[in-house]
Amino acid sequence: MSRDPLVITIGERTLALQSGDITKVPANAIGNAANSALRGGGGVDGAIHRAGGPAIMRELDAIRERIGKCTPGDAVATGAGDLPARWVLHAVGPIYRDGRHGEPEALASCFRRCMELAGELGARSLTLPAISTGVYGYPLDAAADVAVRTVVEILKAPETRLRRVTFVLFGKAPFEAFQRASNRLLGPTP
Ligand code: ADP
Repeated sequence: MSRDPLVITIGERTLALQSGDITKVPANAIGNAANSALRGGGGVDGAIHRAGGPAIMRELDAIRERIGKCTPGDAVATGAGDLPARWVLHAVGPIYRDGRHGEPEALASCFRRCMELAGELGARSLTLPAISTGVYGYPLDAAADVAVRTVVEILKAPETRLRRVTFVLFGKAPFEAFQRASNRLLGPTP
């Protein structure tokens, strides 16, 4: 069932889904699934810090001095160190409980904040991981629905400067969940 990458045109903009390692995919800005402490972690966060080098953590140290923690649903921007990008947008996803504790709103807010920050910085292309679907336990299909819906809504809005948003999905299961979500929300791609 998989066409990978899957490229969907939304007006003059593009939404793409592809499987792979987000640290290897060039883009102006890369989204990260960080934690509130902004101190790095496992999963995609660990991969981004490993590939990007220590400059990213040095910037996060300074941000932490200023704001303390980053709340779930929010994001902060740093440079991208050695990654094939200019900026990393560190978004803090919600920890999933049962879906009735504000998780969908917080998850949508992560994607919205990444796109806002990317736009403010002047990024034209943005890659995003499946925030909260790893250690934070958000069920894949539900998370994919929120992620695709939020990104499509913004790509349809005239004011965003982003031209291309790519979900980079680590493995077959997340890729297929995002593909199902895009079929549900946008209809099957021709
Ligand atoms: P969270 O704590 O927000 O759940 P995780 O990093 O544990 O964050 O997982 C989020 C998603 O990122 C998961 O779907 C996981 O498979 C995926 N992931 C892990 N490593 C990478 C990577 N190098 N590139 C893209 N996605 C990744």
